[in-house]
Amino acid sequence: MSEKHYSFFGNVNKTFDKAAAFTKWDPGVLEQIKECNAVYQMKFPVKMDDGRIEVIEAYRVQHSQHKTPCKGGIRFAAEVNQDEVMALAALMTYKCAIVNVPFGGGKGGIKVDPKKYSAYELEKITRRYTAELIKKNFIGPGTDVPAPDYGTGEREMSWILDTYSSLRPGEIDSAGCVTGKPVTQGGVRGRREATGLGVFFGLRQVCNMPEMMKKAGLSPGVEGKRVVVQGLGNVGYHTAKFFQDAGAKIIGLAEYEGAIYNEEGLDVDEVFQNRRKTGTILNFPGAKNFAKNTDALEMDCEILIPAALENVIHEENAPKVKAKIIGEAANGPLTPEADEIFAQRGMLVVPDMYLNAGGVTVSYFEWLKNLSHVRYGRMEKRFTENMNAHIIGQIESLSGKKIDSEEKEFIMHGADEVDLVYSGLEETMITATREIVEVWKSNPQIPDMRTAAFVVAIDKVGTSYAELGIFP
Ligand code: NAD
Repeated sequence: MSEKHYSFFGNVNKTFDKAAAFTKWDPGVLEQIKECNAVYQMKFPVKMDDGRIEVIEAYRVQHSQHKTPCKGGIRFAAEVNQDEVMALAALMTYKCAIVNVPFGGGKGGIKVDPKKYSAYELEKITRRYTAELIKKNFIGPGTDVPAPDYGTGEREMSWILDTYSSLRPGEIDSAGCVTGKPVTQGGVRGRREATGLGVFFGLRQVCNMPEMMKKAGLSPGVEGKRVVVQGLGNVGYHTAKFFQDAGAKIIGLAEYEGAIYNEEGLDVDEVFQNRRKTGTILNFPGAKNFAKNTDALEMDCEILIPAALENVIHEENAPKVKAKIIGEAANGPLTPEADEIFAQRGMLVVPDMYLNAGGVTVSYFEWLKNLSHVRYGRMEKRFTENMNAHIIGQIESLSGKKIDSEEKEFIMHGADEVDLVYSGLEETMITATREIVEVWKSNPQIPDMRTAAFVVAIDKVGTSYAELGIFP
């Protein structure tokens, strides 16, 4: 990409302004929705393993408190800066509104490349960051609830919970101060794969809508579609896996060290395991290496899924992208220029702030579990199974026929936690897709799905502010 300076927050606001023109809200309300309510920039010293003291730069941004707590992940990356965290926090507000999760948007970031630190150093950084958040009331089950994002996962969330509970002893709902925790620490089953599963549910729903597929010039359904995924981390790996399981062909995979392709399809798990073993995605048996990792983005396919970082598709490579659908699993993978180019070329961009909302949706389920102090399914699973067994018994005795044992087991099954989480997520993504497409269809002036998604978000946040009575 050229040296042009991108303001990620500026880009988010540009799209916001475009969409705001299709809403009824007065400029004051729109300005309040757009701004970040609180930006906390901090610096703190941490002693490294070799005795050196390093000053760490970190952020937490609360974009909106129209609903509380604020919610949004914590990113560990060398590129973290205030503009980026503000943009990501704003996207969280809109994302939560679109999927009807009753939270305001927030986001955190620590400016470190986690690959360059030992686990012990990362633990000290995470714990100190949490302590700083506590001091300023920027974390808590009712105020601000972080989650994983780029460069963080269950391990970091455990450290955050442990630090929080130690400094706030006796707080009964403390497990709800952070989501994306391991199941043993109050996490919910299904959270790990939630964002990828949500991306899959969202794109599957788009692929099942004949009018959307007509726009993209494709036949309906996911099966047989050729898919390329950039980033084999939490989001990318699970997205690729769910597409593969549904009968799509994963023909290209890109990581930061390189990219590979195989027109016949790549086995996602085998590629993942091979990368783990050899330390690189390259030279996978049966696949070919691309010269550059970004070449994968230009591969001929039906669905391209960027699932790494922002601004990876821009004015220079967008004209070379051949996919018919771009599913934004990452946050902000397209610059506004790339967006324009795709719109002109008639390509369908399924926008980040709704498509990758699976993580926050299941985080919401985790938070509810923490506040209720009971595992999903615990109260009703056995009851449902007993009732189903009774109904099967009645059917068999009235019909005089036996139901085969595999079928019987399937019908009897009472929902486990993971069944309920998947089902709640599927419902959320289908409903959100329908709402956005309805708004898009209702106004032919709305140019693309991203603008339609913003219109939905602005209307919901605007209504919420209005109903709070902030604008009498
Ligand atoms: P992650 O750290 O688990 O994985 C990211 C992967 O991308 C890593 O494997 C990394 O090596 C790879 N990568 C980095 N630069 C690359 C490049 N130039 N080309 C190819 N691969 C590259 O992070 P994640 O949690 O999967 O997040 C990915 C994106 O999804 C981010 O934009 C994040 O904000 C967004 N997101 C994450 C969640 C979540 O629940 N984790 C939720 C919503 C959105």
